[in-house]
Amino acid sequence: MRKVDVLLLVVFLLGACSLFYRGPQMVIIRGVVFGTYYSISYYEDDGLVYQEAIDSIFQDFNRSLSFYDQQSLLSRINRNEETRVDPYFETVFNRAQEISKETGGAFDATVFPLVNAWGFGFSERADMNKQKIDSLLAFVGYQKIALEDGYIVKKDERVQLDFNAIAKGYAADVIGLFLESKGVQTYLVEIGGDLMARGLKPDGSKWRIGLEVPAAEYDAPQEWVYYVEIVDAGLATSGDYRRYYEADRKRYSHTIDPVTGYPVAHHLMSVSVFACDGMSADAYATAFMVMGLEKSIDFVEARDDLEAYFIFSLADEDGYGYYSTSGLKLISRERR
Ligand code: ADP
Ligand code: MG
Repeated sequence: MRKVDVLLLVVFLLGACSLFYRGPQMVIIRGVVFGTYYSISYYEDDGLVYQEAIDSIFQDFNRSLSFYDQQSLLSRINRNEETRVDPYFETVFNRAQEISKETGGAFDATVFPLVNAWGFGFSERADMNKQKIDSLLAFVGYQKIALEDGYIVKKDERVQLDFNAIAKGYAADVIGLFLESKGVQTYLVEIGGDLMARGLKPDGSKWRIGLEVPAAEYDAPQEWVYYVEIVDAGLATSGDYRRYYEADRKRYSHTIDPVTGYPVAHHLMSVSVFACDGMSADAYATAFMVMGLEKSIDFVEARDDLEAYFIFSLADEDGYGYYSTSGLKLISRERR
């Protein structure tokens, strides 16, 4: 055989190899949605990129649940122009109501009028005083709204919903379910820090997630010291160190206690919650910010389906402390 023939044969054989199955390909899709960044990673046999389908899911999602789109179903329900819900709305509403009951109203989607009045919604912060808060509390409360045969029923027509503390996690679930419908078994869908992960990677390893440490300024770069490994779990973080405002040297959190009507003010700086799905993790994270450290630890330890990582400020020193619930295995960055 001449030399050139050998070369051709080798090239042909190499080419032929790619005709055989090479194992799942990793796909990463990144973009912007709900005013934040998303990142979707998954393993797919042929490396198919489902960008268009994902864009259209986000679009449908916004049409249903967006707080910013004045024509979304949520906005129309808030203005009492519509009462009939769609499947996205129904799922989020039902889970929101369940978590409100479980947390004694610490999580409450009807908190919207207060969120708005405190300046975390559409309007400038109102001049807040006890009288104003009491007047708003008259139509805040998850018992004042219900879903009956697919229709929203309000006890007071001023009741308005805010799904900001649950919709991001749910969107991660919805994208995950879409990927599963395409046969994808291993994925990580992350939207603005909240995520849903499933499956082991082809080499048998788990998804690794760094736990962010508090930043001094809202726009400081993200840093982490510990990471966790997860297989099938949702994870969401709520904290007041990136979204707050300061007045009279006091920090006002964007998490509102639906019972008192005031922004929460205690030493809990952030909580990361691990749950069976992104939607639950998202909502519990906000609930725990309202409940505070001690009550939340008791709540999580009594449940098999939840774990949490808390960061709190220390009373008489600078810096912060952390607490992780008993089922959570933190791996230090140095020990990699
Ligand atoms: P982030 O938006 O930083 O992920 P959260 O998931 O905790 O934070 O959501 C905070 C948003 O949830 C607030 O901006 C507000 O719209 C809404 N919210 C505030 N307090 C509550 C509460 N007690 N229950 C439900 N939603 C809340
Ligand atoms: Mg959240």
